[in-house]
Amino acid sequence: MKGSEGDEYDCENCGACCRCYPIFAQESDSAREPRIREEGVRCDDFLGEEGNVAYRLFPLFRKEACVFLKEDQLCRIYDTRPDACRRFEPGGEQCREARRRDEK
Ligand code: SF4
Ligand code: SF4
Repeated sequence: MKGSEGDEYDCENCGACCRCYPIFAQESDSAREPRIREEGVRCDDFLGEEGNVAYRLFPLFRKEACVFLKEDQLCRIYDTRPDACRRFEPGGEQCREARRRDEK
C-alpha cells in the first residue's frame, strides 16, 4: 500500500484500503512485528484450519480502520507491515474499489 510519488495512486494522501477492507495478519507477520500480537485481535483456527492463527487488525468488523493507520493516513508499522499489505497493488482493482467506497 504505497504508490510512487506524484502518480495518480499516491498512498501517502490516501489510506482508503486501510479503512475499507478487513485486514488479517498471519502468525509469520506477527513474528516480524510484535505489535500485531499486542494490538490485533487473535483469531484461532483462521479459515477453519486447526493451528492456523491470524490477527484481525480491525477493532470492529467493517466499522473501524486498521489499528495501525495513523491520523495522517500513514501506516504506523510500514516497514514491518503484514504480507497482505505488501501484496496490495496501488492502482489495482481492489485499490480503485477502496477509493470509490471512500468517496461515498
Ligand atoms: S487505496 Fe490504493 S492509493 Fe490508497 S493507500 Fe491503498 S493502495 Fe494506496
Ligand atoms: S498494517 Fe498498515 S498498511 Fe496494513 S492495513 Fe494497517 S495501516 Fe494499512
